Amino acid sequence: MELIILGTSGGYAAKNDGCASYLLQAGGEYYLIDVGPGALSYLQNYIDYTKINAIFVSHLHADHISDIYTLRFAFYYAQGLNRMKKPIEIMMPGSPEDTYNYIESTIKDELFIKTIGDGDSVRINNMDISFLKVEHPVETYAMRFDTDEGSFVYTADTSYFNRLVEFSNGAGLLLADATFIEADKDKESTGHMTAKTAAKLAKEAEAKKLVLTHIWPENDRLTVLKEAEEIYKNVIIAERGERHIVQ
Ligand SMILES: [Zn+2]
Ligand SMILES: [Zn+2]
Repeated sequence: MELIILGTSGGYAAKNDGCASYLLQAGGEYYLIDVGPGALSYLQNYIDYTKINAIFVSHLHADHISDIYTLRFAFYYAQGLNRMKKPIEIMMPGSPEDTYNYIESTIKDELFIKTIGDGDSVRINNMDISFLKVEHPVETYAMRFDTDEGSFVYTADTSYFNRLVEFSNGAGLLLADATFIEADKDKESTGHMTAKTAAKLAKEAEAKKLVLTHIWPENDRLTVLKEAEEIYKNVIIAERGERHIVQ
């Protein structure tokens, strides 16, 4: 498995960096995880968008979904020319209702929506995917992808809680929300982690490698990294365009 980082900013896009979006390659297939601003444009550095096999959406906040609207139009066009399969499966939460309904009403038959719930799991092409409901103001899911090659866990947007440690246990690569730094620690209750809390999660879960993401655009990235390193050594900050082998 390989993870390609498409966007790392939390909340809103930073200069030359979009928001949450990640491309996972497993068994030669490509899966798009979150579809934040800039996702469609940037992913074309790596693959033709017609090669996307399925889409996973952690939650329906704009910084994780805004490119769905243009991606679905690209699919509609390509499918009309028989350049890609139809429909593409998109797994996402069924709420907030107004956002869900708007997405559903925008899509014709180019995407097939499958709503996800806490504890759900699916198997696609020898990959087991499981979902854990996390702590964020709207319905949000962490995701775990397991294959013979390795395991990848994405926390999505969440504050720290015990079940997240179990869920992340032994991850070859843990991609974690690190929106805040220590100076903002009192803001963790808004449903995000500090870099240090993400590091604590990686340590407790005995993850092999930690990649920090959903970085607040105003934060100094060196500070983010240093604070995490105090707790857990094998950590880096996600950078757009990076490729990570998942073991
Ligand atoms: Zn977010
Ligand atoms: Zn969010």
